[in-house]
Amino acid sequence: MPRVRFYQHHLGARELEALREVLGSVFLTAGPRTAEFEQRFAETIGIPHVVGLSSCTSALFLVLKALGVGPGDEVITTPMTFIATANAVLHTGARPVFVDVESDTGNLDVSLLEQARSERTRAVLPTHLYGLMVDMKGLRAFSESHGLLVVEDAAHALESRRNGERPGSLSDAACFSFYATKNLSSGEGGAVATRDAGLAAKLHNLRSHGMNKEAYGRHADRYRHWDMTALGYKANMNDLQAAMLLAQIPGIEERHARREALCRFYDEAFSEMGGVEVPRVSRGAVSGRHLYTIWVDAERRDSVLARLQAAGIGVAVNYRAIHLLTYYRETFGYRRGDFPNAEGIGDRTISLPLYPGLPQESARYVVDTVRKILASGD
Ligand SMILES: *Cc1c(COP(=O)(O)O)cnc(C)c1O
Repeated sequence: MPRVRFYQHHLGARELEALREVLGSVFLTAGPRTAEFEQRFAETIGIPHVVGLSSCTSALFLVLKALGVGPGDEVITTPMTFIATANAVLHTGARPVFVDVESDTGNLDVSLLEQARSERTRAVLPTHLYGLMVDMKGLRAFSESHGLLVVEDAAHALESRRNGERPGSLSDAACFSFYATKNLSSGEGGAVATRDAGLAAKLHNLRSHGMNKEAYGRHADRYRHWDMTALGYKANMNDLQAAMLLAQIPGIEERHARREALCRFYDEAFSEMGGVEVPRVSRGAVSGRHLYTIWVDAERRDSVLARLQAAGIGVAVNYRAIHLLTYYRETFGYRRGDFPNAEGIGDRTISLPLYPGLPQESARYVVDTVRKILASGD
């Protein structure tokens, strides 16, 4: 067993009690807890409409479908993200068009949007990498001047803000993940947040086969007929997930504060260490602090990864650039050199342990071990 796990979830007695309550009720699928979560989450993030879904992947896909993105369309996105972002575009039949990222943050470089735009461009799909929001004001000015849709991958950005904006406040929709390692988690789960009531209604319909009533509407008191009004999918959140998420909402700020404190500790230690850089957090921004990554020399990265693991420290790589993964290379002919900043980050990055329950002495052990490995020079 590792001395310091890469990730350890924070779920416990409250979530267990919430699950027990649902198991004692009638609805295990999308029922009253799911509706309650949608309302509470909307209040929490300050966006009026939320739709609970089975994952962020299905959220990204369903939003693009509901907004009419499909074959023949192009969606501008980032190669420095989890594959789900670009894959969701492919599943609609549209084509993801990558632009390079900022070398100091890893976020989509808004100044490159114009050269990626074509007559087929329908939407821009940024990811708020590690929790730092993309320059949404700049992105919004661009999308408005060209009549483009904007969908945010906010999987890392639960607590994020930038210049008074939050995910969902300057876009058509923002997609959240409640996957096992995310800051709010039900093992699997996702949600869309939008200011557009019509889009939310469409997503409620599409998440359950295009039925005009979900189980709760069909059976809450007595049976009612339902109709199918669109060709939908099966991607709803269920009440077990919703109950676990509801139990975590009151602790969001406290857990975020602990992540922030750990990140500051890491930042301070790495700022005076040779051979390591960390991504910049822009002024005027509160990062969701989902992941903490360091950047080391590309030639040493894999050996540093191995040595950290040999020292009992859990690590990950978020992310190797998407366009260099086999499927994307073979399908679209991408090559090394196409997006140099994303490639540079992908070659140099190491994610370190970061979670609210990470003990201070473990964080110190991580820092000391990185220092020793880097000083050893091999
Ligand atoms: C986790 C993650 C996703 C996918 O979330 P799921 O809920 O597992 O589908 C998408 N984008 C990013 C950036 C992620 O980190």
